[in-house]
Formats: sequence, structure tokens, C-alpha cells
Amino acid sequence: MLFGNNLHNIDVTLQFNATNAYTFVEDQLNINTTHYRIPGSQGREECAEYFIDKFQNIAINFTYIVHNFTVQSIECQNVLFKLNEHLDKIVILGAHYDSRARATKDPDELKRDDPVPGANDGASGCAVLIDLARIFYALRENLTCQFWFLFFDAEDQGYDYGPGISGWDWCEGSDKFVEDIEDFYNSSSESFDAMILLDMVGGVNLQFINEQDSTSSLLDEIFEIGRQLGYTSQFPSSPVVKSIRDDHLAFINYGIPSADLIINFWNNPAWPYHHTVNDDLNAISVGSLEITGKTIEQFVYNNYLNSSNFYSGNYPWLDDINLLDTEIVTLILVISLIIAGIFVFFFINRARIKKRE
Ligand SMILES: [Zn+2]
Repeated sequence: MLFGNNLHNIDVTLQFNATNAYTFVEDQLNINTTHYRIPGSQGREECAEYFIDKFQNIAINFTYIVHNFTVQSIECQNVLFKLNEHLDKIVILGAHYDSRARATKDPDELKRDDPVPGANDGASGCAVLIDLARIFYALRENLTCQFWFLFFDAEDQGYDYGPGISGWDWCEGSDKFVEDIEDFYNSSSESFDAMILLDMVGGVNLQFINEQDSTSSLLDEIFEIGRQLGYTSQFPSSPVVKSIRDDHLAFINYGIPSADLIINFWNNPAWPYHHTVNDDLNAISVGSLEITGKTIEQFVYNNYLNSSNFYSGNYPWLDDINLLDTEIVTLILVISLIIAGIFVFFFINRARIKKRE
């Protein structure tokens, strides 16, 4: 990853409370311990109500919109909370809250039809959003943008080794949301600055990747902010490079600079719980929730705190200098070696022919 800019975080006390966030993960898992938050289940519905309840605890008049849609006749709901609606620049903070209907990657074959608790894959990102909402609400008059806290339904039911729900694709909720996004804002007076997606941000052994579809100037800036807070192993200088199909894609296609904060969840011995029945509270780390929450909090203060503190980041995150995928780099390396080999072969042969002459 490139760190061309010398970013320096503004000096401010961070308030993110990881103990709160851990409790919010626990709450989501306890809503329904049979079906968790599977689309179409009672638990999924109650989880939407739980978010509304949490935001109304922050402020009874917190604006919210429930976005109803259906996937194969199952009723689904994205839930959107808006803060500082009078301001014209919008920053979206998003996470999915549905849990996967089937543990398709579980090592125990007998458990592959069981539901995934989704402690990290789902609940962790939502938990971080709730505590950020508490902090930003209290500081709202000093913040210079509008916030959307956006909870997606129907993200996690696509096909890996098997379907989550038969016939469903990934990211159904965010696709439907962006299809209808013009119903939720006034495009002549409001505009989007950025979208940041939090997916699997609270697990043990946290290490974020350089997600290739993300807007690189935005993702780079978040990495640099995290590193300056001292989180150098969670935001490594040479992160794993990968493209992930996730809820940020619809927003990128709509033209909003977007970043996906996500881990390397595929065949990673440091995170073996992905889409298994073991993605539960045991694999959640208070420290990881804190690192994610404080990094996003600092990002917001750096860019949107109404103060005299000077900060020079990559705003407005229009540059997308995507580096090459690791696979492409490997391919180029192999082709170069083959070409070099052919050259060496010809030189040796020519030398031999000359000798004979
Ligand atoms: Zn998932």
C-alpha cells in the first residue's frame, strides 16, 4: 500500500468505549439463539427493533428510516439513522446485521445446515456503529457533516461451498438500498463524501486487508490513521491484497468514494471461524472493537471536527490508485521469468553455434 502522504492525526481525546461495543455484540447474539438474525426470521426483525431502541436511547427523536424490500418474497429491512440532517455533506458508516443461515464452511459436516451466530460476521460492525453514534450525537454541533448509520439486511446469504439461502446472492440489501438511494436524500442540495463499511472488525487476531475495490485514497488514509494511533499490526504496512464482494460495491458504482474495512477471512488460520458455528462471542476481542472504533472516530475528527486544528489528508478521496492484485503480480513475475529463460537459452545456443563455426 502507498503512503505518499504524511498524515498527522489531530490531537484529540478519543471516547470510543469498547466495553459498550462488546455488550452490543452480546445483545445481538442473545436476541434469538436458535435462528440468530437470519433474513425472514423473528430474530432479524427484533434486531432491527433493537437498533431503533439503541438510537432512541441516544436521542428519543433520532431520525430513522426503515427501508423495506423483498428477496424471493422474504421481507427484509435495511435500517438507516441520520444525524446532522441540515448539513449538506454526507458520510455513510455501514455494516450488515443479518447472520448467515447455514454454516457452509464448518469443518463438521453435520453442522453445515446450522445457522452462523455471526458475532464477528455482522454483529461486530453494527456494535461499533452504535457506540460511534453515541459519541457523534454528543458532539454533533462541532461536526461539519451529516452522518448516516446504515444497517444492511440480506448481505450474507450467497453461495460459497453451498448457499446461505438457496437462490440468494451476496449483498442483496445494499444493492436494493442504492437502487432506492434517491428516495433518501436531496441530490440538488446534498452530496456524499464517503462510505466506510465495517465487516468482521471485532474478531481475535485482527488484521485488515488492502481491499482492491475500495477507493484507495480513502482506505490508505484510514490505514495511516490507524497506524499513527499505534495499531501497526492491525493496519500493516504490507497488507494482504484482495477484492471482496461486499456492501461497499453498490456505493462505489454509484460514484461515492468507499472503503471496506475487512479481514482476510478465507483459508486464514488466524480466523478459522468464518461461516462456521464458531463465529460466536468466544472469538470476539474487546481490543479489536476498540481499534476499529477509535480509528473511525479519529478519521471523523481529522476531517470533520469544526476546530482550528490543521489536518491534511487525502480529501476528497477522488484518487483511486489501485495497486495490482497479488495474483496479477505473481503472473507477471512468472511470465518475466519465462521470457528471461528463453533469452538465456538463445544466448547459450548462439554461443555454441559460434563455437562450431
Ligand atoms: Zn459472511
